[in-house]
Amino acid sequence: NGKPRILMLGDAPIYQLEHWNAFQQRAEIVSADLSSRDAFMQSLRDNRYGAFDGIVKFAVETGNAASPWNQELISLLPPSVKLFAAAGAGFDYLDLTALNARGIAFANSRGAGDTATSDIALFLILATFRLTTYAEWGARSGDPQIFDEVHLDITRKARNPNGKTLGCVGLGAIQREIARKAKAFGMHIVYYEVAPPPEEVVRSLEARRADSLLELAREADCVSVSVPYMDSTHHLIDSAFLAAMQPGSRIVNTARGPVIDEAALVAALQSGHLFSAGLDVHEFEPRVSEELIQMKQVTLTTHIGGVAQETYEGFETLVMSNTERFLLDGQALETPVGKQFPSPLST
Ligand code: NAD
Repeated sequence: NGKPRILMLGDAPIYQLEHWNAFQQRAEIVSADLSSRDAFMQSLRDNRYGAFDGIVKFAVETGNAASPWNQELISLLPPSVKLFAAAGAGFDYLDLTALNARGIAFANSRGAGDTATSDIALFLILATFRLTTYAEWGARSGDPQIFDEVHLDITRKARNPNGKTLGCVGLGAIQREIARKAKAFGMHIVYYEVAPPPEEVVRSLEARRADSLLELAREADCVSVSVPYMDSTHHLIDSAFLAAMQPGSRIVNTARGPVIDEAALVAALQSGHLFSAGLDVHEFEPRVSEELIQMKQVTLTTHIGGVAQETYEGFETLVMSNTERFLLDGQALETPVGKQFPSPLST
């Protein structure tokens, strides 16, 4: 009967409308009942969508009511499901092992947000060296005396990133872009990685590998955290790491909040051991640490790393093209994560 049936989580595409029209010609789209997680699970138990072949999620912000995609939820999926293709680079809402064990392939949309996320990382790095949040606070006070006081205070504290060392925790796709851009500011690159990056990447960044995480901590003037959040990276940046950092150094996180032990970070900033921090993500997001809110040397953003229209356009394209490749054209996924499966059409 031809057309694969696709269960859609959340909203339909809003940017790639031509592609979306073509996609709908080739696949039958069914919307998931996401009024609540329980309602979704019940709809699966009731077999309300019938047999479907794939699951798509076009935006990071919608279709989240089903999360977490744990073993219990995944066990309710019909055996016909072969693919889950989702917006976003992170996939910490999903038990990937359990999904793969059911014979379901997973594709994220990595790459689409690399430019946007690395740009925000550079903004935060610059902010930690130049104290732009403090300066903005001074300007926004509207008080000429505070303006002058803040200006004078910053003359004694701001430093240039030029000639300083950026310590990269992880050297994946986004961090490579961060490092490439940081070099334009004259920074030197040191990295710590569990999966050695290609030789040509290391060479083009003129990057030096640290043998351990603590060695990286000791060498960096500013640390940039860009690793996925998973069991092995929970509180990867802990009090021991922070203590190993140079007095007066800085840290930036554009990965996921719980990769840093936020209480330990607050303590390191309060004691003055760390000079400043730039955080796009927060351990208890959307709650921001009360202590950090008070610190003018800390720049805080609302998880906007990947948030630019170009990213969302890329998410929509990748979710559709992965689904087309795998379920319609017999090709391998473009951005698979976890266990690699051949297209069900190719076997
Ligand atoms: P990636 O998979 O290309 O890179 C991650 C790298 O981290 C990999 O090379 C991996 O080997 C390395 N790594 C894993 N565990 C490590 C450890 N313990 N020590 C050192 N290195 C380790 O992923 P990416 O596309 O570069 O994205 C990185 C993360 O950034 C994502 O997982 C996501 O959570 C986050 N992200 C945030 C935003 C935002 O809006 N702030 C946007 C996009 C992505």
